[in-house]
Amino acid sequence: MRKIAEYTCRYFPKICLVNVLRQWTGIVYETPDNIPIISKSGKYENLWYAAGFGTRGITLSAGAGKALAEMVAYGSTKTIPIEKFSIERFIFE
Ligand SMILES: Cc1cc2nc3c(=O)[nH]c(=O)nc-3n(C[C@H](O)[C@H](O)[C@H](O)COP(=O)(O)OP(=O)(O)OC[C@H]3O[C@@H](n4cnc5c(N)ncnc54)[C@H](O)[C@@H]3O)c2cc1C
Repeated sequence: MRKIAEYTCRYFPKICLVNVLRQWTGIVYETPDNIPIISKSGKYENLWYAAGFGTRGITLSAGAGKALAEMVAYGSTKTIPIEKFSIERFIFE
């Protein structure tokens, strides 16, 4: 917080007049390659993944939901190529 305040005040001096009342933090989950997993399980029947969105999950939710729905309904995506999001690029499943 101290470091961020220091940088922010340097570039936006007027913001130094603002009092910070509280802050919070949490875990941002990322995959090893920073690319989400939107995929059918390679190992388990009827298991689908949409995870590992890190700090982009809200903005990606519409596309991820559409891709996942298409995969579940049709077995593959009709509109969005998502091979790069496959769980099979990892060995941890
Ligand atoms: C500080 C911060 C800032 C962010 N800022 C942005 C931003 O500006 N723009 C953006 O696009 N994204 C942002 N994100 C990322 C975004 O919030 C997430 O990517 C998104 O919420 C992920 O959605 P999700 O549904 O995949 O997972 P989640 O929202 O994490 O939902 C998972 C749900 O599963 C539940 N759950 C977990 N385990 C179990 C279990 N065993 N049984 C039952 N339920 C379970 C959890 O309680 C939770 O409700 C931010 C994230 C953080 C932490």
